[in-house]
Amino acid sequence: MNDRYKHLNFTPLNKQKKKRNKLVGSFAEIPFTNRSWFDRALPEVLWVALLRNIYALQTFTDVLKPILNEFEYQGINSIELTNLGSIEHDKAERIINFICSTREHRIALRPLLLFEDLPQYNLWKAAINEEPDYQADGEALGLTIHKTLDHQSQEATDCRWAKCYIGMISNKITFIHRSSTPYDILDYPDVADMRKTRPSIRSMEIAFDMGVQHSDWADSFWEGCFESTECFVNDYGAPHEERFTTQDTADFIRHERRKLFLLRNIIGSYKKDIKLDIAVGTGLFAVKILDELLDNEASRTGILGRLALRTLTEVSINISYLRSAPEEVWASFRNHGTGEAKKVLLKLMNTGVQFTFVDIDDIFLQANEDRWMEFNSINLGDWEDANLRDRAIKADEKDIYDTFYDWPSHYTHGQWGAIRREVFMVCTNPLHRFHLLPNVEGERSYADVLLDATRLTKWILHDVYAIYPELHPPMLLGSGEQSHG
Ligand SMILES: [Zn+2]
Repeated sequence: MNDRYKHLNFTPLNKQKKKRNKLVGSFAEIPFTNRSWFDRALPEVLWVALLRNIYALQTFTDVLKPILNEFEYQGINSIELTNLGSIEHDKAERIINFICSTREHRIALRPLLLFEDLPQYNLWKAAINEEPDYQADGEALGLTIHKTLDHQSQEATDCRWAKCYIGMISNKITFIHRSSTPYDILDYPDVADMRKTRPSIRSMEIAFDMGVQHSDWADSFWEGCFESTECFVNDYGAPHEERFTTQDTADFIRHERRKLFLLRNIIGSYKKDIKLDIAVGTGLFAVKILDELLDNEASRTGILGRLALRTLTEVSINISYLRSAPEEVWASFRNHGTGEAKKVLLKLMNTGVQFTFVDIDDIFLQANEDRWMEFNSINLGDWEDANLRDRAIKADEKDIYDTFYDWPSHYTHGQWGAIRREVFMVCTNPLHRFHLLPNVEGERSYADVLLDATRLTKWILHDVYAIYPELHPPMLLGSGEQSHG
C-alpha cells in the first residue's frame, strides 16, 4: 500500500550522512539561497507550465523546442518571466509575440493576465489579445499549479527541462566529460531511460537556477493567488473501515487477564519474586492499556491512542530484552522504579497542593515497599544505563522500534510532527501552495488504533509466557477455553 512512494527519488535512511546526532539531508548542505521550486522557480516559468498543461509530453516538447530555439536566436538565454521583464523592449516583444503566435497558446496563456504585476504585462496583454474569463482561467491556473507544485512530478520535470534546454543551446553550460546527458536534454523525451534522465534534469535545473536573477514576481504571484481565491477544505470522510469488532478485543482482554492471574498464582508464593512480579505485571499493564483504549473510542483515533502505542512499544522492547537478561538486570529494572518513586515523593512532599495525577501516600508506600527508602538510590539515567534503541537491537526487536517508536514519540513529546497532524489541515487549493489551516471545520481522525495496540499487546504477552515455558496456555486455562492466537 506504500508502493506509490517507491518511484520517488529519496535517499534511503541507511545512505544518509551522519553528523554527530543528525542525519544530514542530501541537499541540506548545498548553499542554495532561497531555493524552492514552488516558491520561486515555478512562478518564473509559469508560461511554460501553462503550455505544458494543454499538451501531452511529446507535443509539448515538439512545440516548445522551436520557441526555445527562437529565444537563443534572439540572444535571450533565460526563459524566466523576470528575465523577460529586464531585457530590451523590442526583443521582449518579439519573443512574447512568438510564444503567443497561435490561438491555442493565447488561450492557454490567458491566465497570465490575471496578474497585473506580471513582468512585461502590457506586452503579454497585447500579444494574447483575449478577454480574460476569470472562471475558466482560474481553473486552468489551478490545474497547472496542481500538476507542477510537486517538484518531482512529470509536469514539473518537463518545465525544468525547458530551462536546461535553453541553458544548453545558449552555451550557458558545457559538458567537460563525455556523457549522454547533453543528448538526453536535446532529444528529450526520446531518451533511453526516462528514470535516469528525469533526475538529471532536476539536478541540472537546480544548478542553473543558482544564476537566475530574482524579483518580486514570485511573491506577488502567490500573493495574488491567495488573495483572489478561497481555501479548499477536504472532506476526509470516515476513517478506515473497521476490520475487527471491539467485542473481539473485549474477549481477548478477559481471556489474557485470566491467564496472567493463573500464572501469578501457580508460581507465586509468599516470597518476593522480582521476575514474576515484573513479567506478570508487564502483561497486565499492557492489557490494562488495551482495556482503557477499549473504553474510550475517541482516544483511539486521536492523540491519546498514539501515546498508548508509544508506551506499548517501550513495554514490548523492555520485556523482550529482560526475557533473556540475568537476574540482576531484572532487579535493576525494579530498583529504578523504586528510586523513581522516592524521587517523586521527595519532590512533591513539600508542595501544599493536592495534584490529581499522583497519590502521595501511594508513592510513599512504593518507595518503601522493598526496604526503607533511605537504602534506595535514585538512578538519574535510564534504568539500565542504555537506551531503548540499544535494548531493541539486543533483543532483536529493532523492527518494532523502527515501526512504532518514532511517530508516537512525537505525540509523547508534544513535538511539531504531532501538532501539525492533529490540529492543522492542508488547504487543498493549489493556488494557496497547500498552506495550513487550523483544523476546526473538519474532523480528521486516524483509523482506530485498537488493532495496532492489540498486536503489540500480543507480542508482549508472547514474551511474558515465554519466560515460563513450562506453563503453556492450555495448562493455565484447562481444556474449556481456547487461546486467541
Ligand atoms: Zn487556502
